[in-house]
Formats: sequence, C-alpha cells, structure tokens
Amino acid sequence: MGEPHFPIRDRLMTSILQPITATDLTASRYRGAWTHTAQGEPRGYVDFQRLKELWIHTGTACNLACPFCLEGSRPGDDRLNAMQLDDVRDYLNEAVELGVEQFSFTGGEPFVIKRFIDILTYASQLRPCFVLTNATDPLLRRTHQLLPLKDNPYPIRFRVSLDYPDAARHDIDRGEGSFAKALEGIRWLHDNGFDVSIARQMTTDEDSAQVEADFREIFRREGISDDLAFTAFPDFGTPGEEDGSPEITEGCMEKYPTDESRAHFMCSYSRMLVKQNGQVRVYACTLVDDDPDYGASGSLRESLDTRVMLRHHRCFSCYRFGASCSAP
Ligand code: SF4
Repeated sequence: MGEPHFPIRDRLMTSILQPITATDLTASRYRGAWTHTAQGEPRGYVDFQRLKELWIHTGTACNLACPFCLEGSRPGDDRLNAMQLDDVRDYLNEAVELGVEQFSFTGGEPFVIKRFIDILTYASQLRPCFVLTNATDPLLRRTHQLLPLKDNPYPIRFRVSLDYPDAARHDIDRGEGSFAKALEGIRWLHDNGFDVSIARQMTTDEDSAQVEADFREIFRREGISDDLAFTAFPDFGTPGEEDGSPEITEGCMEKYPTDESRAHFMCSYSRMLVKQNGQVRVYACTLVDDDPDYGASGSLRESLDTRVMLRHHRCFSCYRFGASCSAP
C-alpha cells in the first residue's frame, strides 16, 4: 500500500468542496485533545456499527523501502512487530463469534514474515481472506505453500500494489525490476485461480479512466487478464507526519448525518490487530497505527464500544475521499 508523496495541503488549496481557512491549515492536533479540536469545538466521531472485517497487521518488515510508504515499512523494520499465529488465534476466534465476514492482511509485506502462512492457513478455515502484497520475491518464493490453501473452506483474494501504468515510474521508488516482478506475481496468482485486484496510486487531476485503460493495455500485452479491479488511494503521508489538513468537527459530520452515510468509514465496521513492543493491540482501522490513542490492549469485543474521534490527519482523507482499504 502506498501513495505519491505530494502534501495534501497542496490539494486542499484548490479544493472545490469547501473553503479552507488559514487557521485550519496551521492548527496542529496530532497530540491535541481527543474530544475537542484545537479551536475548542466538539470533534467529529464515528460510532461502531458491526464487525464486517478484521485486519491483521503482519508487521512493518518489507523487502522494499518505498519512501512514500504510509507504514514506513522497509527491510528489517520493527516499528510494528511480526505477527505470529499464537498472537492472533484467540482474536480470530472472537471475531467469528462477533460475526466477522472477512479477515484482511497488510504489512509491510506479509510474505516476508516467515510463518505468515500459518496465520493464513488458520484464517482461511474460518472466513474469506484478503491479502495486500507487492507480489514480488517474498510471495513468489512461497507459491508452493499457497497452492494447498486453495483446498481450505474459504477463498483467499489478493490485492497487488502497482503504482502507475509505467514500469520506470513505478520502479523509481520500489526499485528496478519491481514492476516486472509484480506482473510475474499477478500472473502466477491469476493463473492459479486466485482472485487478484490492483492497488494503484491516485494523483491530482488524473484521468482515471485513461490510467486504468493504460494498465489494461499492459496486462493484455503481458498475457494477464485485463478485467482486474482497481482501488486508487490518495496520499496518506508517512507515519507520525502531520500534514496540516483541517480538523473535523461535529458540524462537519453533518455531511454524514446517518449511520448509513457513515458506514463507509472503515472504523464503523472494521478493526485492526497490531503487535507493538511485543503486545497485540486493537486499533480502530488500518490507517492510524502511528497514534496510540487509537489502540487498546483489551479484547476485540471491548474495542467495539469505543467511539472513534476523527482526530488523525488521515481521517480527513476518509472524510473527503471516502478512502477505504477494503474494496474491491
Ligand atoms: S482514518 Fe478513517 S477509518 Fe480510520 S479512524 Fe479516521 S476516519 Fe476512521
């Protein structure tokens, strides 16, 4: 998962959705009050509705070191620890009791984690699984471990990061040959009957239809199915970054007045397990694992009672763009 690293502030200045005041742009709230904005207004929030999806963060170790990575992942990184089956087994079982519909996995690169396959084996016996991957060497080295999982009761889908329909541009940040390797991974997954979609980067003023047509042309040329689905992500910034995006007040949330309209916020239907300093914590969503106020050390069930205040700068991406890591 990752994005071009242009400041969100640049885009806000040209926003046609709402005027942005100078105060909004300079207010810092990363470590500010949980319930109120820097200007003292009640902060916008999202209440939990139902558990559709449980994310498992496999850790910030990755085989690549993309400078724009929203997780700050790179080889050997340990900001978030490698997850093992013993860490998550009880949570997966609890999630099933709570009616979860899908287990999703992100990193880092999940296939860098030596025993990740154990978690995937267990999870795919309980619910459908969804894995975000760069589909390069770590996955290609484990194809023999993936094939037997096709016999498990629930399917495993993959979403592969392919930033731009331009190998050279993709490889600038991901490393030479990464684009070709990812195509190899996509081809293997698709040819072996796994459902695959693409995570691409969204840029300002892009012609989305043309971008995706360019991808499909490459897929056709490479003998890969050209009907893969795309998810485009906005810029989320790197961990701990404060990008100057506006605060979200309760008044702002009138744009989303009902439970139904707030249902696109991931924190209304998902939670994420993260291992940090050797302890598993339950976070509100996949986008806020760099702010401990969004995490709790209790059970999954306990975390569902917590109102999520929209303080993190990435909440503004959800607010404005409806960003979701979940679909398709
Ligand atoms: S980043 Fe989005 S999903 Fe996460 S807590 Fe903020 S609004 Fe909710």
